[in-house]
Amino acid sequence: MAAATVIKRRQTRQVQVGSVLVGGGAPVSVQSMTTTKTADVDATLAQIYALAGAGVDIVRCTCNDIDAARGLAQIVPRSPVPIVADIHFQYRLALAALEAGVDALRLNPGNIRKPEHIRAVASAARERGVPIRIGVNGGSLDPDIADRFGGVTPEALVASALQELAYFDEVGFEDVKISVKASNVPLMIEAYRLLSTRTDHPLHLGVTEAGPLPAGLIKSVAGIGTLLAEGIGDTIRLSLTADPVEEAKAGRQLLEILGLRERKSVDLISCPSCGRAEVDVIAVASQAQDALAAREIPLQVAVMGCVVNGPGEARDADLGIAAGRSKGHLFVRGQVVRVVDEAQMVDALVQEAEAIMAEGIEARLAAADAGAAAAAEADRAAMLDDKGLDANNVEMVIKRIEAGAGGAS
Ligand code: SF4
Repeated sequence: MAAATVIKRRQTRQVQVGSVLVGGGAPVSVQSMTTTKTADVDATLAQIYALAGAGVDIVRCTCNDIDAARGLAQIVPRSPVPIVADIHFQYRLALAALEAGVDALRLNPGNIRKPEHIRAVASAARERGVPIRIGVNGGSLDPDIADRFGGVTPEALVASALQELAYFDEVGFEDVKISVKASNVPLMIEAYRLLSTRTDHPLHLGVTEAGPLPAGLIKSVAGIGTLLAEGIGDTIRLSLTADPVEEAKAGRQLLEILGLRERKSVDLISCPSCGRAEVDVIAVASQAQDALAAREIPLQVAVMGCVVNGPGEARDADLGIAAGRSKGHLFVRGQVVRVVDEAQMVDALVQEAEAIMAEGIEARLAAADAGAAAAAEADRAAMLDDKGLDANNVEMVIKRIEAGAGGAS
């Protein structure tokens, strides 16, 4: 079995957002943001509950006017997760959100620039023990800082964050997380790398305005995933132009894939299919993915197109199925335990997954059908006889190419 490789995380200080610890060795948390009008309390709470169900730890709501602040006063006590108020331009709305009882604030230093306003918010937050995220965005960077650095550069983003941090220091406020987001992925990566050498405050990672699926997801994973793999980042948000539940699920999955959070959902691995495939791998894999995700079964499950290589290549998976000749070979940790009809492949996978969840891997291996391994070996041998070692007939094709090239000279 492959040994687990663990990402070594950078040490940061810790802040507390309601019941969720961020930084200081706490699990990397997943954040998302509501798309409803915050003043519409019922619609916002419905979305917050949907996000919490999708695995989000912290939710941000815009506080863009006094009605939104009134909404927050009703939302916060009924929310299943801590609520962060997102503040732009009007520092008075930050004070109103604190009054509403929010668990944290996000301030954009690019559009709340008067030091006395920043200090007033930090003082009020300190009195209530509420942390603040300094949320620098490449697109709304303070123009004076952009001029000083010759544009939106990693150094400029970090300078904006550190300038805000200095205002907080003046009033003795240290309960701070920082983000330096940009929509340009290499820029964002460099900014966070630089920031991580300049401060030990916990970092909130994100690629801002990443866009719709699938490119938005690819950009977010490229930026956030790269930094997490380097040990940088304490909390994340994937900003997708999509239902926020999708960004919550994707964020959670990214952390599970990197081994930074315990698996809550299925990890389906499947072969890309090739000339040997005995089944429509794409259809079987997607049916299995849907069935297992709906049941919230946190196992690694393999769908392999043939029994020639399938069980061996996926031996680290908790369970899997490989297609034989009109049959499915069900295997647990690489050992074939049962042979089923091809039409039953997905049902058999789901049943076995549920049995593993109820009884454990060892019990299911002990209950293996004694004849299954022999049946799989017989199918494997027959398929090798049919198609040989070279299922795509590559050697024959090369011989034909060589014969043609020889004839052309
Ligand atoms: S050899 Fe079998 S398991 Fe491997 S890609 Fe081809 S069909 Fe899938």
